[in-house]
Amino acid sequence: NKQVLLANRPHGWVQESDFSIVETDVPALKDGEVLVKNLYLSLDPYMRGRMNEGKSYAASTNLNEVMVGGTVGVVVESKNPDFQVDDMVLGYFGWQTYGISDSKGLGKINVTEQIPASAYLGVLGMPGLTAWVGLISIGQPKAGETVVVSAASGAVGSVVGQLAKAHGCYVVGIAGGKTKCDYVVNELGFDACVDYKAGHLVEDLTAATPNGIDVYFENVGGEILEAVLDRLNAHARIPLCGLVSQYNETNPHPVRNFGAFLINRVKLQGFIVGEHADLFPQAFQELGQLVASGKLKYRETVAEGLDNAPKAFIGMLKGENLGKQLVKLA
Ligand code: NDP
Repeated sequence: NKQVLLANRPHGWVQESDFSIVETDVPALKDGEVLVKNLYLSLDPYMRGRMNEGKSYAASTNLNEVMVGGTVGVVVESKNPDFQVDDMVLGYFGWQTYGISDSKGLGKINVTEQIPASAYLGVLGMPGLTAWVGLISIGQPKAGETVVVSAASGAVGSVVGQLAKAHGCYVVGIAGGKTKCDYVVNELGFDACVDYKAGHLVEDLTAATPNGIDVYFENVGGEILEAVLDRLNAHARIPLCGLVSQYNETNPHPVRNFGAFLINRVKLQGFIVGEHADLFPQAFQELGQLVASGKLKYRETVAEGLDNAPKAFIGMLKGENLGKQLVKLA
């Protein structure tokens, strides 16, 4: 069993040397346990937070512990009557090629021609559910409103924008670079996309949101948040999902125009998707129908092999991914 461990707590940007790669034996199964061969590992921005010590909504990963993460895989041995060899499963085995579970937190997945196993880590997995919970339950978009989403081409943002379009909204993405913006508009069907790396964020966002902004799905923070705050309409809603531009910063960016929340009577709610499990059945059903019918599009960036996970993780935090970042393990 190959594993990636947390070797150092990074200060600022993560380095490949913050990880170590080891080989261990797979222990024999006890009664009730299942051995899973992991096929795909999900790489997600929240993992950067787990590398830190200190207060957060979840415990830190300890030094020399396996990095946490969602996985899909296949059962290769079972001493649990609920799981058979060859069952496809979604688990939380982390950055390793095999995992043993007592079946808690392990779920069977239905892989079909329209829905490949990897989709359960992206559009139909935690990121897709995050998009649904944040937009629908907190953002509450109404037809005709303007919805803006940052990290728009990514795993969460790409679903947010397409769901908002399905609700009849005018949808503007914010993403880094022309390739991502072209993808968001031409392939995902957003009305517009602002390339924040082009050098005129404020002017371009103003031009792209002639009627102001009613819902801002926040994924990044920093200067993008400030630019959005200046465009908010009265009674705007902000589902605060993530602040990825700040995760590797040693000096977080202060918000210049905090008064915009008061002036516009804004509702802002930070949320962690795992605390909204009551909404998952409805969200999963809606997302599944949209994916199976081809109405909800997605892309994946797939790194090959566990050895490349650290590099791919750092690349994702720098925006090198288009769509969901995965590692193919087998
Ligand atoms: P993505 O697939 O969107 O990948 C991360 C993206 O962040 C990069 O591709 C990059 O896109 C963007 N980014 C990185 N640095 C910056 C920067 N300085 N300024 C602006 N954009 C930047 O990841 P996810 O879709 O998985 O996650 C998106 C957000 O959602 C993250 O903040 C994550 O923490 C959050 N999240 C929160 C959850 C919750 O429960 N609250 C659950 C899941 C995700 P670009 O090239 O466009 O800059």
